[in-house]
Amino acid sequence: MTVIKPQLAIVEANRPAAPPASVGLPDIEAAAARITGKVERTPLVASPSLSRLCGQPVHLKFETRQPIGAFKLRGAMNAVLALGEDQRRRGLVTASTGNHGRAVAYAARELGLAAAICMSALVPANKVEAIRSLGAEIRIFGRSQDDAQIEVERLVAERGLIPIPPFDDPDVVAGQGTIGLELVEELPELACVLIPLSGGGLAAGIAVAVKALRPFARIVGISMERGAAMAAAIVAGRPVEVVEEETLADSLGGGIGLANRVTFALCRELIDEVVLLSEAEIAAGIRHAAREEGEIVEGAGAVGIAALLAGKVSPQGPTAIVVSGRNIDEAVHRRIVSGAAA
Ligand SMILES: *Cc1c(COP(=O)(O)O)cnc(C)c1O
Repeated sequence: MTVIKPQLAIVEANRPAAPPASVGLPDIEAAAARITGKVERTPLVASPSLSRLCGQPVHLKFETRQPIGAFKLRGAMNAVLALGEDQRRRGLVTASTGNHGRAVAYAARELGLAAAICMSALVPANKVEAIRSLGAEIRIFGRSQDDAQIEVERLVAERGLIPIPPFDDPDVVAGQGTIGLELVEELPELACVLIPLSGGGLAAGIAVAVKALRPFARIVGISMERGAAMAAAIVAGRPVEVVEEETLADSLGGGIGLANRVTFALCRELIDEVVLLSEAEIAAGIRHAAREEGEIVEGAGAVGIAALLAGKVSPQGPTAIVVSGRNIDEAVHRRIVSGAAA
């Protein structure tokens, strides 16, 4: 699977270095104004069982209720709405492990634009079909997120399509940050936020909003032990390559990009703690969500719940868990909820 990696290094080396970019509270407020009415304002629901478990009020932010079943619609919609008319007409392209591709396809359909979605052969079949049914052109390429990104670069160069990145883009980060505005509005005493962490668009956006409005709130990023790219980058002090492995939290797979310009700096500065979870712990989170909270949640979406259940986070004060998505293969979900080991 790493065969094509040197090629990616060449692509990145030849590209003129994009300047670093950042995101502030005004960007997130602008994003909120732009996407209102085009994405769901999702419910924040108290969890009696998790509150009992940690002796603090725990609330679940159900991004599972977005029309595509994941939060990614916020960032994608904001990025597409920020484009000029001539850019929109050229059509959109992105690489995705599934949910971001689904979000771009959905936004394109809503706004009457064309979209091509590039993904690796590791992306589960249910996610591929969901995107196809939204009317996007599907391109399967290679065995990793990095491989799929090479195909994006080609379509940008050869067809002039407009890339909508999955996380490392100021408009995408600002869109995801609208979750942070909603959390502070609905839970003014907010003291701790548990956020699934992969490329860091979700965590960076929420952290910018929450830290601006509640400077003492604690931001916890949560990844799987198998291939946690942002955690490895924070430890190394720079973006590093990680080996992509299969995991129940498949939406958290992939690297952060060696030429990362937005999310790495924000995550390094604003995340207070990173927690890593085993596959069995993630399975327990999925099971708890189904049995106790009545919600179908995919592995990536369940890591916040899983971290509390595993005793790896001990929040002090009112806590919000971002339940980021629900797009899990039905058979896998049934097997986990029925109690089979991960
Ligand atoms: C993309 C995704 C994440 C991680 O978001 P990043 O911005 O890449 O950190 C978490 N959960 C789900 C369901 C996702 O689709």
